[in-house]
Amino acid sequence: MKVLKFGGSSVATPERIKSIGSLIKERYEAGDLLTIVFSAFGGVTDELIKTAHLASKGDESYISVYDSLRERHTQAIQELLGSNDIVSGQVTENFDVLKDLLKGVFLIREASLRTMDYILSFGERNSAYIISKYFEKIGIPSSYLDARDIIKTNKAFGQAKVKIELTEKLTSVYYNERKDKLQVVTGFVASDVGGLTTTLGRGGSDYTAALISGALNAEVLEIWTDVDGVLTSNPKIVKNAYTIPQLSYDEAMELSHFGAKVIYPPTIQPALSKSIPIYIKNTFNPTFVGTLIN
Ligand code: ASP
Ligand code: MG
Repeated sequence: MKVLKFGGSSVATPERIKSIGSLIKERYEAGDLLTIVFSAFGGVTDELIKTAHLASKGDESYISVYDSLRERHTQAIQELLGSNDIVSGQVTENFDVLKDLLKGVFLIREASLRTMDYILSFGERNSAYIISKYFEKIGIPSSYLDARDIIKTNKAFGQAKVKIELTEKLTSVYYNERKDKLQVVTGFVASDVGGLTTTLGRGGSDYTAALISGALNAEVLEIWTDVDGVLTSNPKIVKNAYTIPQLSYDEAMELSHFGAKVIYPPTIQPALSKSIPIYIKNTFNPTFVGTLIN
């Protein structure tokens, strides 16, 4: 099994999703057994936070933020799948639930961390679901996997702590029953033992992918992002920053803790514990080697 993760900027538009589709199709046809973890469409998590905060302050403009999120997803479905009643129906249902939730937040003027986690989960649940259906359409047999079914945490909403043993067990049970299809998984979201939705902290989709890699003893973990791997500096600030071709797990962990945004710090541990190599690759420059962490 190879586990790949694509971040929000990689799936910010239907065009980008289409180019990921071609990349994955090649890999699938070459015989790779794949699990692919997705973040919410670029910017969606921030917008979900925004609409919930406006609602909690009693500001009715939360509705227009909600409406544009809904419109953006409707358009993505249209561009990727045309008029597909099943997909539109499911996403409509999700957005109807979200609307009720936001109305609740508006009425009680409060969005607890627990409520926020549930609200934020709609980002990844919609993106991964839509993309899984798009993969099927282009001829890649795929299943949508809601990570709440396999990743279990405590109740520290907003940045929940993963129950590793239980997660590994549920993940292997799930995969043992479904060996054939490519799995398209929601990043970032998880659930507590009782089933309440939790999240792994901002940027947590990397961690989702690492947890699944660890549980399945994956051959490799690939983090697909919007820069050429781990660079010597933040390329948005330092113009001549360049890619570091190879790092040890320790070095990568240190860099991520000291602020390298390219990888979410907890990601390293599950890979390190099973000696799974991590590749950091650029979705916008896919032939570039990127960084290898091993
Ligand atoms: N969508 C979540 C965030 O924006 C998780 C992730 O992208 O890794 O933080
Ligand atoms: Mg990220």
